[in-house]
Amino acid sequence: MAGFKALLATRTDQGQTVDWVELTEDDLMAGNVTIKVTHTTLNYKDGLAVAGKAPIFRRWPMIPGIDLAGVVEASRCRDYKPGDKVLVNGWRLGETHYGGYAEKARVEDGWLVPVPKQFNCSDAMAIGTAGYTAMLCVLALEENDVKPGDGPVLVTGASGGVGSVAIALLSKLGFEVIASTGRTEEEDYLKYLGAAGVVDRGELSGEPSMLGKERWGGAIDTVGSSTLANVLSQMKYNGAVAACGLAQGTDLPASVMPFILRGVTLQGVESVLAPKQRRLDAWKRLAKDLDIGKLRAMAVAHPLEDVLELAPKIVAGKVRGRVVFNVG
Ligand code: NDP
Repeated sequence: MAGFKALLATRTDQGQTVDWVELTEDDLMAGNVTIKVTHTTLNYKDGLAVAGKAPIFRRWPMIPGIDLAGVVEASRCRDYKPGDKVLVNGWRLGETHYGGYAEKARVEDGWLVPVPKQFNCSDAMAIGTAGYTAMLCVLALEENDVKPGDGPVLVTGASGGVGSVAIALLSKLGFEVIASTGRTEEEDYLKYLGAAGVVDRGELSGEPSMLGKERWGGAIDTVGSSTLANVLSQMKYNGAVAACGLAQGTDLPASVMPFILRGVTLQGVESVLAPKQRRLDAWKRLAKDLDIGKLRAMAVAHPLEDVLELAPKIVAGKVRGRVVFNVG
């Protein structure tokens, strides 16, 4: 049986090690669809996992990579046949089930999303969990009735993956987008994606006030902590915040004042176990509302081998936009 290359994380007495290994299909985990992985990507969570900065792996050994895209090689289900282009986001890939940092994967058909015809497998991974989560955040704002006329929408962690895709989506939908970033030198990039203005993230990351001047009709927050608390305090009456991230921290030193005096909504967004229909809806909207030129401009292609060098960089907030790994 022909072997394939994979990155394997192993737990030792000294801690975690990650090594390139040769596996065979017999080594793959249970599932009814086998995929030749052509592309994968680097999300913040992948960086934490590979760099050993957080306990992302829940089973050992583990192939990291929470996303993958590729071509079906073998299928024991009716919905997919060899040659179909498919993608997987989450479902605990790279946590409890072998993930995308390998030339092959085997998963349950219920986890698969067909790659929309507007995208190729590289585009699908330029989107990845980060972009699909950005879309979930936009859906959350829409479901909370945030409209372009309600005032500017703030996106925090703007130069990162979720932030970059969120800006491109919101601007296409007619929102006035303000990007909060620690990299003000990326102003041209953020404006190219569709930001109308840029604020230094230092304005939002300090000691939160209970209630500030009303500034934002909506917000997508990827950083949490005092930034999210400050954002909440600056929301306009009946505004909504979609919160998905923790790049600044997991705490939330906020007060109830924005909720009880301004009717502000704080909507949590979770991507890993989102139901299948929600994913299909999100990918349908990505195909419709994401400018493919902007998507390709925010993505940089690398060979998968570069993951070891890039993982600590994304955790340090030093990766702009999205990374696509070519596999094999
Ligand atoms: P990235 O690393 O690409 O982006 C995060 C951005 O946050 C950075 O680029 C930086 O933007 C900003 N940032 C980094 N460190 C700090 C800090 N200390 N204080 C304030 N801002 C900071 O990550 P992703 O876009 O992939 O993910 C963003 C967040 O969303 C992560 O926390 C991730 O875990 C979470 N996430 C959650 C999901 C869910 O299902 N809930 C799914 C996907 C992601 P800048 O330089 O512009 O300030």
